[in-house]
Amino acid sequence: MHIGFDIGGTNIKAIITDAEGSVVSTFKHETGSSRDEIINNINLAVTTLLNETKSTINDIGPIGIGIPGSVDSERGRILISPNIPSISDSDFSDLVSKKIGKKVYILNDATAALLGEWWQGNGKNYKNWLMVTLGTGIGGGAIVDGRLLEGRNGFAAEFGHISIDLNGIECSCGNRGCFERYASASSIARLAEKEIHDFPDSSLNGKEITAELLYNHALQDDPFSLHMMSQCSRYLAFGINSLLNIFNPEAVIFAGGLSHASDILFPLMTENLKKIGFKGIVEDVHFHKVLHEDQGPALGTIKFVIDKMVAK
Ligand SMILES: [Zn+2]
Repeated sequence: MHIGFDIGGTNIKAIITDAEGSVVSTFKHETGSSRDEIINNINLAVTTLLNETKSTINDIGPIGIGIPGSVDSERGRILISPNIPSISDSDFSDLVSKKIGKKVYILNDATAALLGEWWQGNGKNYKNWLMVTLGTGIGGGAIVDGRLLEGRNGFAAEFGHISIDLNGIECSCGNRGCFERYASASSIARLAEKEIHDFPDSSLNGKEITAELLYNHALQDDPFSLHMMSQCSRYLAFGINSLLNIFNPEAVIFAGGLSHASDILFPLMTENLKKIGFKGIVEDVHFHKVLHEDQGPALGTIKFVIDKMVAK
């Protein structure tokens, strides 16, 4: 059996699977704040999952943990985790391993999500595909010719910071017109706040606008929300088109808050892509929503561990 973790700023999510990776039981708990508290909660997850499945520590392989932030998987070190500062700059694998009595592998949570979707989700049947996460920013990952693209130091596929406008909005990364300033869940809400003044009759006036609110109103044919979805689909198409030209993928799989609006966004984006896309590249690309939104990262850490064990 295998145990995999997805550690976020708010919650620790863990799963236990059988040898083939089918989920047998799950666990969720507040992350906690201090490093010791977090490690104790990880230990609690392991003992709870083992009890629930009437297993012992000897029945499981090494444990995988997905962490938000910059992670050196080889050395088991967390360099920096902006959302969970207490575990930054620590030999986290060793610390958890000492507590649990099992070898521990750590990896970046976005990489884990990609591996999970590749193993058991919509990425399963593709050799060339991209994951694009439309959340607070835009994150990404790429499988190229059947391999995870890592880059020189693991930062490849920072899709959120390709520029779609050299005169565009300034970004904290130093660039201008970054994709994530236009087509992330946060950005569509921020851009909507600026544009709502042109729609004085919209029922969204005076409300705190979120991507979810825009989507729900777009479903009810609210003209302003439909206008924002249409805008967003254009921005999305420009960013995605650059990615298609670079990677020539079979599929793009979307995750994150704004991917919930895929039934409205995908057809609009596809229309725009047909206008601007390179012939031979843009046709027949499959667009999906992520299949394992909740358990994907934990599944991915298990896949990571299984591959490490095979490689040995
Ligand atoms: Zn940027």
